[in-house]
Amino acid sequence: MNNLAVLLAESARADGRRVALRQGEIDVTYAQLDDASARFATLLHTRGIRPGDRVALVMPNVTHFPVGYYGILRAGGVVVPMNPLLKAREIAFLLRDSGARIVVTSPLSADEVRTAAAEVGAECLVSDPAAFDDLVRATAPIPGIVDRAEDDTAVILYTSGTTGTPKGAELTHRNLMTNTATTVETVLHIGPDDVLFGGLPMFHAFGQTCALNTAVAAGATLTLLPRFEPAKALEIMDRDGVTVFLGVPTMYTALLHTAIPEGYDLSRMRLAVSGGAALPVEVLHGFEREFGATVLEGYGLSETSPVASFNPPDRPRKAGSIGLPIRGVEFMLVADDGATVGPGEVGEIAIRGENVMSGYWNRPDATAEAIRDGWFHSGDLARVDEDGYYFIVDRKKDLIIRGGYNVYPREIEEVLYEHPAIAEAAVVGVPHEIHGEEVAAVVALRDGAHTTAGQIRDYVKQRVAAYKYPRIVTVTDGLPKGATGKILKREIVIRQ
Ligand code: AMP
Repeated sequence: MNNLAVLLAESARADGRRVALRQGEIDVTYAQLDDASARFATLLHTRGIRPGDRVALVMPNVTHFPVGYYGILRAGGVVVPMNPLLKAREIAFLLRDSGARIVVTSPLSADEVRTAAAEVGAECLVSDPAAFDDLVRATAPIPGIVDRAEDDTAVILYTSGTTGTPKGAELTHRNLMTNTATTVETVLHIGPDDVLFGGLPMFHAFGQTCALNTAVAAGATLTLLPRFEPAKALEIMDRDGVTVFLGVPTMYTALLHTAIPEGYDLSRMRLAVSGGAALPVEVLHGFEREFGATVLEGYGLSETSPVASFNPPDRPRKAGSIGLPIRGVEFMLVADDGATVGPGEVGEIAIRGENVMSGYWNRPDATAEAIRDGWFHSGDLARVDEDGYYFIVDRKKDLIIRGGYNVYPREIEEVLYEHPAIAEAAVVGVPHEIHGEEVAAVVALRDGAHTTAGQIRDYVKQRVAAYKYPRIVTVTDGLPKGATGKILKREIVIRQ
């Protein structure tokens, strides 16, 4: 049967009494989750949803998210997840673009979603905990799971928005089923006794595949955190005995700068997975020292389901590397003219494999531009070492060219993160009359730390080639971040 919802049905059949989801004081077993999603599937069916119809899901990490997610899939529908912090205008754009007829949301986003739904003529279902549970309970569960073809779309993921107008990446049932299975079997090695940290938003590819779908496939427990706060994260790690942490680099930095309360037992945590943005090597080592878990970095995009490469646990880990392409995935590094680059040279990562989306929803031109001769072009620049490990140098558009010399922001950010007073750093290019572009750094200091822009500039100047160090340094309270906690470089404004 080709339907991602099978993951849930199988885990419920294997042992329905196991806890699938934990949110605060609420425990949801596999049997309950499977039953609720089946009832929700019927509810959608009675409201006219048929195979291939899009249903939007606008929710934070609460237990109703997986009920909605697997319910939509079970009914043969296509899930269109959205960030619950979006405004009505943004939601309306995505509803119109995806053609979703029903939008499911929680009280948190109800006002904005209702406005958006009214604007485009979609039906809005609000999962007010009591009313929604009653509604679902009153509906008989759909007897089976609607079978789909393996290349049918399961989820449309609108990509993070750091790259201009949102486009919907169409991920098929096969894309997501294989990416989940490969992540469970070759990276996480999890089973029913594992407890995964559920602080990554499930509306984003990373949290959806690597936390939700992997936990459900393995019959493990996912402990949900509706909003990431380091103190809360530590609390659930201790209380629920989290064995696998998953996060983006800013979560690692935040945890590293939060004191672990006396008496907390985090010793069950064996693995920490980082992705979504470059994890500074200093932060990786600091986290391993502080938390005693191995940190493995991976890489991927919404368009690749998302996992494309990983530091495999059974091979020596290379700090600062995104590892090797995972099973069933190939990488190629290409120059601007499309030719493959030589050993040690920097090229754009092109990806081929069973994780690559079928295309962008209703955007044949954008699809043709991104997928050429079967290779998806990522826009990320990397080099590969003699052992086949890839190192991201930066994103294509992030490259700073100063006086004809290439400066890769990542390299300068690594140096900044080594500075004892710096908590977060981003390096960007700003227009310059003589050099074309100038290197600028924006940093946020650790609590209680003191240093000056001049001292930071000198610190980097002593450590990198003269053309590379940031001539402009700005100290701020915090850097702009996207939904997953990724630093949004495009929103950084440099005052010169
Ligand atoms: P998204 O589609 O929102 O998941 O964003 C994908 C982008 O995140 C990629 O194109 C990369 O630029 C970035 N990214 C993901 N993982 C890493 C990583 N480990 N190191 C550096 N950049 C990463």
